[in-house]
Amino acid sequence: METQLRALQAEALSAVETAGTGAQIADLRVKYLGKKGELTQILRGMGALSAEERPRIGQLVNDIREELEKVLEKKTELLKEKELVERMNREQIDVTLPGRRGFAGGKHPLTATMEEIKRIFTNLGFSVAKGPEVETDYYCFEALNLPKDHPARDMQDSFYITEDILLRTHTSPVQVRVMQATKPDEPVRIICPGKVYRRDYDATHSPMFHQVEGLAIDKKITFGDLKGVLAAFARQMFGEDRKVRLRPSFFPFTEPSAEVDISCGICGGKGCRSCGNTGWLEILGSGMVHPRVLEMSGFDPAKVTGFAFGMGVERIAMLKYGIDDLRLFFDNDLRFLRQF
Ligand SMILES: [Zn+2]
Repeated sequence: METQLRALQAEALSAVETAGTGAQIADLRVKYLGKKGELTQILRGMGALSAEERPRIGQLVNDIREELEKVLEKKTELLKEKELVERMNREQIDVTLPGRRGFAGGKHPLTATMEEIKRIFTNLGFSVAKGPEVETDYYCFEALNLPKDHPARDMQDSFYITEDILLRTHTSPVQVRVMQATKPDEPVRIICPGKVYRRDYDATHSPMFHQVEGLAIDKKITFGDLKGVLAAFARQMFGEDRKVRLRPSFFPFTEPSAEVDISCGICGGKGCRSCGNTGWLEILGSGMVHPRVLEMSGFDPAKVTGFAFGMGVERIAMLKYGIDDLRLFFDNDLRFLRQF
């Protein structure tokens, strides 16, 4: 029996020595040490041994079992280590490389511009008003002195959902909604920022763009107040050295109306390619609220007056950052967006 055990011991040790994978080690463990394993089989034959032989052989079996367990354990560790080294070589990890830094993200230039505009006007005493982007024809045009046959409607060709419901072409309907919700003797000082929609698409127009419109109604509001507020805005937005001028213009909802220009920041007003050699850049439209618009929203034009203005946020951002194609804002190109 001892010969049998010694043979088994030698065979098992050499099998462990040549095993190359974790699966082979597991198989060997079952083969020799398992419930039906070879060592256990030999143990079952011990009943045939004499009483003085039995303890000696029993001790030998235990020694062999312990030895086998030890080498199996050792080999398992060895294989794990080998596998790790192989994997590291395969994946070519260079532990001396510096860690990759996560990208924290940032504000879109349009969001940053919008927030700056809001900050300037709220500091001037305006509050922020919001309204729906899907509007009725009444709020979008009718109540702003733009009846159905008015030619100025053509400049605001939009997306109609039904004949009377459309995506708003400007944020002016919010002004109407605020005016109608205000008592005739209460003052109004609001800006309306938000998305608007028109059927345009080129380097300076996008079918969806952003506007900020403003409205002030009170007793004794004059054209001088309008100019003062807009000049304060332009200087805070573009720089203290900028000059501001107002040019006569036409809008159906204001009378008189004016386009507001700032002096060109590139040539300082002397004239260059960016400003078309005029020295001026148009930034927004404005005017005194048309008496009919006041009347339609329940105010008495004999008692109160008001001014209104509106600007495209994309245009302001293009002028502020020197961007020549509006479509860049919507391309989601990180090389562009990371510059701000
Ligand atoms: Zn210029």
